[in-house]
Amino acid sequence: MVTYLEQLAYLVKRRVQRDFEVATCASRERPQGVAHWWTRGRLKRVYHPRSSLLIVVPVALALAGAAVAQAPPITITPSSPETPRWVGHVTVLAGNAAIGALTGAVLQKLRGGSFKDGFVRGALGGSVSYVGKRVAVQDFWGAGLLGREFNALGVSMVRNASDGVPTLSHLYLPLGPLPVRATFDLTHGFRVQPQLDIAATAWLTTGLLGSHLILNLAESFSSGAPVFEAEGRWLVDSEHSVLAYAVSRSVFLGDPGLYRGAPPPRAHVLAHERVHVLQQDFVLTAWSDPFARVALNRFGAGRWMQRYVAVDALAWVVGTASRLMYGADWGERFPTESEARFLTGH
Ligand SMILES: [Zn+2]
Repeated sequence: MVTYLEQLAYLVKRRVQRDFEVATCASRERPQGVAHWWTRGRLKRVYHPRSSLLIVVPVALALAGAAVAQAPPITITPSSPETPRWVGHVTVLAGNAAIGALTGAVLQKLRGGSFKDGFVRGALGGSVSYVGKRVAVQDFWGAGLLGREFNALGVSMVRNASDGVPTLSHLYLPLGPLPVRATFDLTHGFRVQPQLDIAATAWLTTGLLGSHLILNLAESFSSGAPVFEAEGRWLVDSEHSVLAYAVSRSVFLGDPGLYRGAPPPRAHVLAHERVHVLQQDFVLTAWSDPFARVALNRFGAGRWMQRYVAVDALAWVVGTASRLMYGADWGERFPTESEARFLTGH
């Protein structure tokens, strides 16, 4: 693991140094090799410091994933019944704070800001996210919606820390079960910019068109995300043990009558999937969005697009990479799964 971290640190340092040198270079001398071929002479524009994100983010994800894959499986659930449950909660809280801190620190540093500032404010946002997840798994009506918005507040704090802007300057809030996320800009008075969540729209449409899937409106409003129920058919034809899954902020519940034995209570299964929805909100706003912004800001149509749509490209990359690294049972061993299981007990 040390080797991977060392490699990552070296790559980040090299990349940032090179950006800085090229961005501040007064001469018009063209670089040689790959850099020249890639930039095609548009040196200043392509080598803006933020472009380093394009290289560093996939490398960081791949290296972190490989490091995690080599480590023993992470078990958050206390191993012995004597271990108090609060120990597990402290672990989950620390995990959320650490992910928020690293996100804020790395992304702000790549923008030329302060690692420490991003780290501290990112940790604060991660801790708020943890509270949101605890609310989302409660039993009362609307717990999912309330928890999702609270989690979104924490995620916004992480995002603002990454962007190097005041902690509450922008709020990125999902509009309940609608595939729309609204950005509340509080820096210039009060401005709202709704954005269509493309991936969520695709899965919502898939659910609505599925002949064996029924949208449960009451559960969808209570959960703050679309909840579909399968009837008379397996949820996943190739894998009959899948009780439910959450994908791109939509929840799909299996038909309980089809499973052998007694499946866990439906409310617990739904609460578990709601945790995954909140985790997916984090990936979209804290990682996919800044990543997509760098790519889309390069051309006019892209700038127009990122104003009105949210592109969750990184979730697809992370999902594919995880499947490749963990194999078929990747979901069982991934830390996001351990977190959802610990918080709901299933
Ligand atoms: Zn799960």
